[in-house]
Amino acid sequence: MAAPPTQSLVLSFEDARRVVEQQASQVAPGDVEILGLLSAAGRVLAEPIAADRDFPPFPRSTRDGYAVRAADLANLPAKLKVIGEIKAGPPPGQSLPPLNRGEAFSIMTGAPVPTGADAVVMVEYTSLQGNSVQITKAATPGENIVAQAAEAKRGNLLVDKGTRLNEAAIAIAASAGRSRLQVFVRPHIAVLTTGDEIVEIDSTPGPTQIRNSNSYSLAAQIQRAGGEPVLLPIAPDEPRRLRELIEEGLQSDLLLITGGVSMGRYDLVEQALAELQAEFLFTGAKIQPGRPVVFGRLNSHGSGQLARSGASAPPSKYFFGLPGNPVSTMVTFELFAKPMLEALSSMSPRKLAFLHARLKSEIRVKTGLTRFLPAILSGEFEKTQAELVPWQGSGDIAAQSRANCYIVIPPDREQIPAGDWVAVIPR
Ligand code: AMP
Ligand code: MG
Repeated sequence: MAAPPTQSLVLSFEDARRVVEQQASQVAPGDVEILGLLSAAGRVLAEPIAADRDFPPFPRSTRDGYAVRAADLANLPAKLKVIGEIKAGPPPGQSLPPLNRGEAFSIMTGAPVPTGADAVVMVEYTSLQGNSVQITKAATPGENIVAQAAEAKRGNLLVDKGTRLNEAAIAIAASAGRSRLQVFVRPHIAVLTTGDEIVEIDSTPGPTQIRNSNSYSLAAQIQRAGGEPVLLPIAPDEPRRLRELIEEGLQSDLLLITGGVSMGRYDLVEQALAELQAEFLFTGAKIQPGRPVVFGRLNSHGSGQLARSGASAPPSKYFFGLPGNPVSTMVTFELFAKPMLEALSSMSPRKLAFLHARLKSEIRVKTGLTRFLPAILSGEFEKTQAELVPWQGSGDIAAQSRANCYIVIPPDREQIPAGDWVAVIPR
């Protein structure tokens, strides 16, 4: 059967990334489930968390010391009468007399500041003398006190729907008394490895065969990005079986195919997708590694599969064809597949951000491609440096495993001297 020709659509890195972001922004929210707080860490919140009370619920002392009236410290040293002690979590029903002129309360960090006091002086600037305290430092009104509701008022939004629950969001949920949270169900991401030379990891490879590493590196990246990997059997470089497995993969929320997207005679993935009436959004990006990366969608109509749940969901499934070279697979997942996975997790979109570090030794490359080269961040504190890892090209997973970041080189640079700032994506 003659393959329907696929038109070549090779975009710059930025354009390709924008195409993915644009498609990702149209993904409908997924299904939800309710989890206990600890299981919810790392998941995407499906409901807003609001303040159930004022944060803080009372004016809170941030120091151990003395609650005072700032005006009483106009002349130093000042001597104030100590009329009591307030600890964090004072006994319920302990009624505190309001603070009058010339008086102080001994107070602890986290304790409620009494009426009449408008500052807390740190214990370091005081000395207790019998019933009085001598204070050697002035205070401004509000000093060492967080006013009631200064962080959030009761009813205010604290964490929005679509947020991935990191430790700070978990702390907020705990503070607001939310022991159970509604989160989005993790999307299922199908992984389809192609290639006659690829064998499963528990088999002994023949002299020219290699074990399947891409399915596993992708599964690890999928899990880290919040998805549920679904590993399909290895597809041979044979159109019928390949097509069958692609159709199986389309039952997941997203299909990642690795290998078979270059220009070789047995690179059959694009052809198989075209036969399924795929719409190609790009068939390459001007990047290295990863140039042959493919992105597109298949209508449920064309493939016979149904779209994910949700009435307003577009009737299509997205797929990526990631180049088979293991480092290319990892890089293209990070740059393109991850934002789509995050959208399918119903996470609010975020832009790809680069950090910057000083280049440790000179880089020379050819112009024309945006490069994402495996590199090592070293040095310490504000002296962080980045340096390329010597490698044998995009099949070199040994080099990649020594790297902890990518150095990003724009397509118009052919030489970057040591000491220049370079953009870096940590991994
Ligand atoms: P391809 O993109 O199919 O031309 O493959 C490019 C290179 O990546 C070839 O050397 C393949 O053997 C290798 N490769 C493809 N798939 C895998 C895989 N799943 N695991 C390890 N290496 C792979
Ligand atoms: Mg291949």
